[in-house]
Amino acid sequence: MSRGPKAGYIRVLSPVVPPHVDIRGKLNTGASAQAQRKREHVRGCVECQRRTGGQIADPYRLAAWLEGAKVYDGARCSKCGSTRRRVRDGSCYGCHLKDSPLDPSQRVRVPQHSRDGWLARLDEKRKEAAGEVWAFEVGDWRARVYPTGRLAVDCDRLHIHSEDWAKVPPARVFEIGTSEPDLVEVMRRAGWSV
Ligand SMILES: [Zn+2]
Ligand SMILES: [Zn+2]
Repeated sequence: MSRGPKAGYIRVLSPVVPPHVDIRGKLNTGASAQAQRKREHVRGCVECQRRTGGQIADPYRLAAWLEGAKVYDGARCSKCGSTRRRVRDGSCYGCHLKDSPLDPSQRVRVPQHSRDGWLARLDEKRKEAAGEVWAFEVGDWRARVYPTGRLAVDCDRLHIHSEDWAKVPPARVFEIGTSEPDLVEVMRRAGWSV
């Protein structure tokens, strides 16, 4: 919780004028307090805006920086044709990424393992949608195992027809399993730990 000035008091502003900002070179687009202070100063300082106007050729880049953006829409890139540019140095966003594939600060990296898992699940769903299924029988139990791992079981004798055996309450599965060794075998073959 922040405490404002008490009622009846007038907050006295510091008479110290903050130093004008030197923005030659790269514009700091970071989220640090220092970078934000710089932007805020220039936003409210006519003198700084006059100076930077002469130093930064692209007024859109300056405007984007003052808004706290990291990318802006600027002049079309002669190499790739994109207009997306980095506020930091005005370079083409797409070409910059291509040119510095090892710059970790410019990359959003997806962990390899989760990417593989995601691709595998996508592949499993695709296979299941395409009708791929592994079917087998144990006694009078019929089983279908889908690429996603879903197990469907049928037993006409017991009038059991389940499209997703994992959704049957464990107590019920256990109850049937104690008198149906063939069902236990079905589950074992389907990869269940039973
Ligand atoms: Zn200034
Ligand atoms: Zn480019």
